[in-house]
Amino acid sequence: MTIASICRPSRSPWDQPMDRFFRIFPCLADPGRRSSLCLKLALVAIHLIYAGVLFLFDGDLIENTKKEPLYTALYLLLFVVTLIQYFATSLSSPGYALDAMQAINERNAVYRKAPETSNQPASSRNGSFVISMEGNQTGRNILGSPSASWSKLVADLYPFSSSIRTWTCTYCNVEQPPRAKHCHDCDKCVLQFDHHCVWLGNCIGQGNHCKFWWYLFEETALCLWTGVLYISYLKAHITRVWWQDAIMILLLITLAVCLIFLLLLLLFHSYLILTNQTTFELVRRRRIHYLRGIPERVHPFSRGVRRNLYNFCCARNTIYRFEPLPTSEEIEEKSRPYTCSDVVTCRCC
Ligand SMILES: [Zn+2]
Ligand SMILES: [Zn+2]
Repeated sequence: MTIASICRPSRSPWDQPMDRFFRIFPCLADPGRRSSLCLKLALVAIHLIYAGVLFLFDGDLIENTKKEPLYTALYLLLFVVTLIQYFATSLSSPGYALDAMQAINERNAVYRKAPETSNQPASSRNGSFVISMEGNQTGRNILGSPSASWSKLVADLYPFSSSIRTWTCTYCNVEQPPRAKHCHDCDKCVLQFDHHCVWLGNCIGQGNHCKFWWYLFEETALCLWTGVLYISYLKAHITRVWWQDAIMILLLITLAVCLIFLLLLLLFHSYLILTNQTTFELVRRRRIHYLRGIPERVHPFSRGVRRNLYNFCCARNTIYRFEPLPTSEEIEEKSRPYTCSDVVTCRCC
């Protein structure tokens, strides 16, 4: 027996089959991805338990389904659509700054090859990506040249006095446009970072905030409908089989807690969308260097409720959307107190 074999930590009998398993499924070797997969499986299992118990215990529901299949079919459709939306949101890209930078570089390479096409507007389609700049650029020349580099593009989004060091990410060394933030779970800078969702195992940002809102909406509707079915069961069957009732009451209580949480989350995100804010901006406003001097009640990126809603729901032709910081004149205008004429002309819209 050699000294090396004595010093080597002993391998358990599980190590060899596990090594083979991770060679077949390399993604599961990463503990982060493994826990994310476990959470996804747990979420699907919770959905199946809530719906399964209902169909198992409620004989009337089965009978009614035979007579009127449309009602149950709609419920099952919502169930399937919610799970599909969950996975679609979980697997979607939140919009990474690095990808946007590469897209800009690719676009520049195309412009350099074909200089005669360089007279396109700032918002231009080129291959698989579209870039648009938002806002009223008073006194600032955003994307003066269509072949502007990523550094120039980002610099133009900040006030002239800002230093490049304040917006360069120290982890991935990428210049961050306003509203971007480095996510330590994903280890990437995310455009219009909202939050990192543990249940989805994904970041919520510019690219998938809309999908996330729809997921919340569908999950809330499903939770509400399931709650109604549970209450209907308990009304019709209470005192028949005590242990079934106990299970149903316990599940109904947890369902009610989930419903309250989902409703509050849905309302909160609806408010964020209407005012064009993110969770990160709202919660950590004082820690974001470019928002520190702006009055609390001013939403610097808001373009009015209608425009915010349109951008959120309908600006589908844009993969990467960059919003410059407002100028001091724009902030002054936004912080002006509301007058009667503002209310009449619906200034906030
Ligand atoms: Zn970063
Ligand atoms: Zn993340």
